Amino acid sequence: MQTHLRFGMQRDKPLIHQEKGKIDGIVVPAHILAHQTPSTSVFISSLPEKPYLIDPMTFVFQNPTEAHVNEAGALRQSIGKLCRAYHPNLAECLQGLDAEEALEPDELPDTEELCEGVLKFQREAVAAGSALSGARKYLDRYAVSRATEPRAVVPPYFYFEMIGDGWYELALECARITARLAPEGVKVLPVVHCEVDSLTGSGIARISKDYSPYGQVMMWINNFVQGAVDQGSIAQVRSLVRAFDENEVSIESLYGGYLMMLMSFDGLAAVSHGILYTESKSTTLTPGSGGPAERYYIPKFHEFRSLGQTDLIIHRHPELICDCAVCKRHMGGKPDNIVRYMDNPELLQEHFLTVRRAEADALGASSPQKEADALRRTYAAYHASISDLPNPDAFISKAPMKGLAYLERWASAIV
Ligand SMILES: [Zn+2]
Repeated sequence: MQTHLRFGMQRDKPLIHQEKGKIDGIVVPAHILAHQTPSTSVFISSLPEKPYLIDPMTFVFQNPTEAHVNEAGALRQSIGKLCRAYHPNLAECLQGLDAEEALEPDELPDTEELCEGVLKFQREAVAAGSALSGARKYLDRYAVSRATEPRAVVPPYFYFEMIGDGWYELALECARITARLAPEGVKVLPVVHCEVDSLTGSGIARISKDYSPYGQVMMWINNFVQGAVDQGSIAQVRSLVRAFDENEVSIESLYGGYLMMLMSFDGLAAVSHGILYTESKSTTLTPGSGGPAERYYIPKFHEFRSLGQTDLIIHRHPELICDCAVCKRHMGGKPDNIVRYMDNPELLQEHFLTVRRAEADALGASSPQKEADALRRTYAAYHASISDLPNPDAFISKAPMKGLAYLERWASAIV
C-alpha cells in the first residue's frame, strides 16, 4: 500500500524533506501552486525522486457560497489565480453568479479549452515556476532541484450527486478530452468524486464501465469520515474498489485513513492525506481553511485524539504509548512526557508519518481476518474505558461516534 502526502502548508516543507523516506509520493493542490508558485514549484523540484500529482481542484468552481467566493463577494485570491491559469473567462463565469446560486455545468467555459488549460498547467507550472526570478532564494536551499512532470495528469473533475447527472457527464467528457489531448506516454488519472449513496450495484457497474478504459482512477468519496461511516457504506466503497480491481484498473483514494488503507485487501493501491488532517473531506468545505489540528495519532485506535484526551488515555493505559522511533526517544514509556508534544507540534507530525509508514507496510503482510481480530481486540480492551470521552470528529457527523465503536464496524465490514 502506497501513501501519498497531500501538501498543505509551506511551513511543513523542512519536515517533509526530513521525513521523505516515509512517503511514496506527493499530491499538490493546484490552487496552492497557482498562488505560491515559486516556493511550491521549487519544493516539488527539490524532491525529484518523489512522484507527484497536481490536484486540479476544479470541484471548487461548483460551489460559490462555500468554496470560492469570500465574504466580500470576490473570488478568493488563490482561486482567482487558479482561474486565470486555466482559462481567460473562467473567473468571469464564477463572479457572474449570485452567491446563493450554484453553478450549472453549461456555465463553465468551453470544455475542450478548459481541459487544455488544466492539462497545460499540470505539465508546465512546476518547470515554469522554478524558473521564475522569485524562485532563486528557494533554489539555494536545496542540493537537488530538477523539475519533473507529474506522474499523471488529472482531468478537470466535479462532484456529482447522481450518476448520469450533468456534472457526472461533464467530468467524464473532461476525462475523454484530456486523454485525447495528452501526448503519448503521459498518463491520465481521472477522479470520481461522489456520495457513497451513488455506489449501488448499477451505479458501480456504470462507473467502472465508464472509467476502466483509463487504466487508473482516483476516488474521492464525499465526507467519508472513517470514525462515523456505517458498515453498509464501507461495503459499498469496497465494492467499487473491487470492481476496478477485477478490471485490472489501478484505483487510489484521494483522501483516506486506516479504514481506506484496509481496502488494500480489495485492491486499493494508494491513499493520500495531509500530515495531521484531511483523512476525509467534504466537497463543500473551503480548501485550505484552518490550520492543522494539534492532535496525537494513537496507533492502536488508528485515529487521532486531542492532546488533552491522549494525556488522559495514556495515563489510564500506559501500554497504549506508541513505540515508534520518535515516541521511544521522546516519550520513553512515560505518560507525563506527552507534554513534550504539546511544546513541539513537529513531533506530532514526525510520529504520525512514522506510524503511517509502519501501518502501510504491515498491511502488506497481513490479512482481513488478522486485521479484524486486532480491531476487535482493541475494541474489547479499551472501548468501555474511553467511551465517556467525546470523539473529536463527532461534531461533523450525526453518527454515534462514542468510544471505539467504529473499530467494531470496520471489523464487521472487512470480513
Ligand atoms: Zn510514535
